[in-house]
Amino acid sequence: MAKIGINIATGSLQKEEMIVGIDLGTTNSLVAIIHPETRKPVALKEHDGSSLVPSIIYFSPDGQVKVGEAAIPFLLSDPKRTIFSAKRLMGKRYDDLRQHAAFYTYKVIDNDSDGMVKVQVDDQFYSPVELSSLILKELKLRAEHILKTSVSKAVITVPAYFNDTQRQATRDAGKLAGLDVLRIINEPTAASLAYGLDQQGGQSEPLVAVYDLGGGTFDISILRISDGVFEVLSTNGDTYLGGDDIDRSILNYWAMQLGWDEADHTADPERWQQLRLKAELAKKQLSDSSNWEDKIGELVLSLTRENLEALTRPLLEKTLVSCAAALKDAGIKKSDLQSVVMVGGSTRMPMIREAVSEFFGLEVNTSVHPDEVVALGAAIQADILAGNNRKLLLLDIMPLSLGIETAGGLMDVLIPRNSKIPSAAARQYTTQIDGQSGMRISVFQGERDLVKDNRKLAEFNLAGIPGMPAGIPKVEVSFLINADGILTVSAKELRSGVQQNIQVVPREGLTDEDLEKMLMEAISHAKEDIALRALTEAQTEAEQLLKTTERFLQKHLNALTQEELLETANAMQALQLSLSMEDKNLIQTKIEALNEVSKPYAERIMDEAVGAAMKGKTV
Ligand code: AMP
Repeated sequence: MAKIGINIATGSLQKEEMIVGIDLGTTNSLVAIIHPETRKPVALKEHDGSSLVPSIIYFSPDGQVKVGEAAIPFLLSDPKRTIFSAKRLMGKRYDDLRQHAAFYTYKVIDNDSDGMVKVQVDDQFYSPVELSSLILKELKLRAEHILKTSVSKAVITVPAYFNDTQRQATRDAGKLAGLDVLRIINEPTAASLAYGLDQQGGQSEPLVAVYDLGGGTFDISILRISDGVFEVLSTNGDTYLGGDDIDRSILNYWAMQLGWDEADHTADPERWQQLRLKAELAKKQLSDSSNWEDKIGELVLSLTRENLEALTRPLLEKTLVSCAAALKDAGIKKSDLQSVVMVGGSTRMPMIREAVSEFFGLEVNTSVHPDEVVALGAAIQADILAGNNRKLLLLDIMPLSLGIETAGGLMDVLIPRNSKIPSAAARQYTTQIDGQSGMRISVFQGERDLVKDNRKLAEFNLAGIPGMPAGIPKVEVSFLINADGILTVSAKELRSGVQQNIQVVPREGLTDEDLEKMLMEAISHAKEDIALRALTEAQTEAEQLLKTTERFLQKHLNALTQEELLETANAMQALQLSLSMEDKNLIQTKIEALNEVSKPYAERIMDEAVGAAMKGKTV
């Protein structure tokens, strides 16, 4: 296995090419780089502009797309076409969001083949990946404009609590925006890097708390740093808590003083919006003064620091409860911490800084711009990957993703590209055919969604699986790359214990040119690859559903009415037909239609079975 420097990690990267750090935020996003002369991280901004790009997208009726500041006015004037907080939708199913449905002013639906949410604007459907890619594309364009060079490689940050699906969705969004995502890193890790907490002498394995209070979300993470490796010991927080809630409290306080109520709100949304903007302004200005006064027309508005603090208190208390929980989960005491880092615009409030310092018994770190700190840390990580940081140059990583072939010829990645080695991952799979006694495990390397476009490394057959109905065997496939870059792939059927394994050296026979070519192709084909994956997943789901329905019918034929049978047969036929149409939305609609038909009798038959089982028991 090669040690990565410039060449191996990133193809034949020229020294001048920038790798940017991107903070893809819920409210705002931004790009940072290491300044080539000062070697210091800086956030990119136009001369007169801000480094923050609001994470807002407006789809105009005539097909234009506006991203950033230009989209803000439409939050009010055209809320159904103005998408904010797309990050909260990443890798989510509708059920995950149901509780907060009222939060979204645009239409969020759940009809995608993989059960993931989509956003509907008129007759167009957008996945969260597509939405995030529009923001990333805008950031890429702005960065290229400012740097006057092309930008194609990036490190992107995500919250520490993001799961595999959400991280993969973020990678896909980058790919779709034309960016080679070299690494996804945790936001608290980036913030700690920006404060140089990995380079402090003294304590050998410092423990750090990162308190991140933004516009709409709150996170607290506890990290342990050892030998430049950041380990997240625990995270806690609330994905619907932030500065916006303080604005709302101020708004309600004023409305109460003015004697306005809900009815006024619906009658005059514009006035409420004006008031909301003033509330945010008051809050921000009160971070530097003790009184605030302003007017909207004849209307005089005022707020004191004292009022504001009383209104903020409940939110602050909630965050401190999360902090205590995070400490407990990490198994440490406050006094074990060496540093507390503040991230997010809302940590500018003196009250928050003081209360957090007091809670942890430590002066909090606030010297780095709280809105930029995460992007600055991402830029430092990008610089390390570019091989410019000598101290951290020798880092072993896998240059391409490793995975296996699954139904429909799809690549299922177990170890994503740029993972550190040694590294291990495991996932469970099952059979597709009744009585299937063997399973072919084909191991591939590469970034494309279909295995036929990737590089095949090895293949073996797990034989001797005892006869079971499809879907019952549990085959665990595990990948282990040791420090020498040797990959061991093992497959084990967990019910019977049969197992098999194989060893390969993924890096062997792969030149730097091959690598570069594979990476470039993955980016240039991103759009069609992602669409093809979605279609294949829908087709596989449909085929599985047809099989299970058929099996169910055979078993319970007598328990169904004539009408139920007929409806089911029709729905099955429609689904079968849709399979050949190559339209994933159509397939999904037909899947739902079949589920709709079978749900009532499936439930009835299950209830009867449970009832019969209970009868036999003495209570
Ligand atoms: P972020 O999501 O990190 O960009 O943070 C945005 C939040 O920070 C919004 O709720 C802002 O109102 C809030 N914010 C920005 N500046 C200040 C300030 N000076 N005082 C208080 N809150 C602020």
